[in-house]
Amino acid sequence: MKFICDDNLGKLAKWLRTLGYDTLFSRTISDSQLLSKALNEDRVILTRDTKLVELKVASKYLLIESDKPLEQLKQVKKEFNLETSEEKLFTRCLVCNTPLNSIEKEKIKDKAPPYVYETQENFVFCSKCEKIFWSGTHVQKMTERLKESQIIA
Ligand SMILES: [Zn+2]
Repeated sequence: MKFICDDNLGKLAKWLRTLGYDTLFSRTISDSQLLSKALNEDRVILTRDTKLVELKVASKYLLIESDKPLEQLKQVKKEFNLETSEEKLFTRCLVCNTPLNSIEKEKIKDKAPPYVYETQENFVFCSKCEKIFWSGTHVQKMTERLKESQIIA
C-alpha cells in the first residue's frame, strides 16, 4: 500500500516512511497534481482537507481526524490494518522516500564521524540524498515513541 499526504501532513508522511511505507509529500503540490499522482500511482490520499475529498475524483482516501502526528499514524494503521514491525523501521529515507540500502562499514570510513564509525556496525545509504544513516539516539527515540503509542509491539 502506497500513500500520498496533503501539504498539512508532513510529519505523518515522515512517520509512514519510518515504518517503511512508500509515502509522497510535497509542500508545494497543487490539489490537482496530488489527485492525478494518486490515481496514476495507485496511492491512497491522506488528507485533513474535506474539500479535497468532496471532489470525489479520488477513489481511495482517508480523512485524517487528529492534528497530532502519532494519533494520525494510529488512525492510518487501524483503517488499513497496516503491518508494522521493528525490522521494517528505517528502511526508507525520511527525507526523500527512497528505499535505503545497507552499505559496508569500510566504504564509509571517510564520511562518518569518527565516534560513530567506532561505535556503530550497521550503516545505510540513500542513493538520492547521498547521505549515510545509522542507528543513533534519534532512531532510538523514534522507536520508543512508536512503542509507547503501541504502533509497534
Ligand atoms: Zn533520501
